[in-house]
Amino acid sequence: MERLKAKIRSEGQVLSEQVLKVDAFLNHQIDPALMRDIGQEFARRFADAGITKIVTIEASGIAPAVMTGLELGVPVIFARKHQSLTLTDNLLVASVYSFTKQTESTIAVSTMHLSSDDRVLIIDDFLANGKAAKALISIIGQAGAQVAGLGIVIEKSFQVGRAELDAQGYRVESLARVASLADGQVTFAE
Ligand code: 5GP
Repeated sequence: MERLKAKIRSEGQVLSEQVLKVDAFLNHQIDPALMRDIGQEFARRFADAGITKIVTIEASGIAPAVMTGLELGVPVIFARKHQSLTLTDNLLVASVYSFTKQTESTIAVSTMHLSSDDRVLIIDDFLANGKAAKALISIIGQAGAQVAGLGIVIEKSFQVGRAELDAQGYRVESLARVASLADGQVTFAE
């Protein structure tokens, strides 16, 4: 997606060979028009996939997930990272190792919102080692629902997540594929 790549080139900051900071338009300040385009692109790619629900993780997945849900006309569920007094229903839980915080945490979704009839599209901001995706796949599996595919805004193709999801047979659609962050430069895969 050229508009996204241009934004990454102009406003992304390479923090290390592993980490790209995109707080200017995705992870802190959000560019709504870009999010709308991202939602339209995911909706176009998954238009025939029979999606009934979108699942993401708070907080940074929510903006692209909501725009995609708006386009596809389906509800969006975000897995919660923090215990909440209002999240008292039966819970589907998984543990996830955070790439950016380097800590293990638990994420949870209420059983109320996912059922075995659902075909779920997972949306997230980044794909690195695939830990967040794996945790969401586990939660969707616990509900007896199907994973129809994964929509990733920025994939770092040099980390293992993409290859592992491909090997497991999941459909992954990434809007920007980063091949390398070496020498302070973002190099795209295609
Ligand atoms: P994974 O679970 O695939 O290892 O990492 C994905 C998660 O870690 C994403 O949800 C995202 O929040 C965070 N993440 C991974 N790599 C980056 C990165 O280079 N920059 C930022 N800002 N977040 C990242």
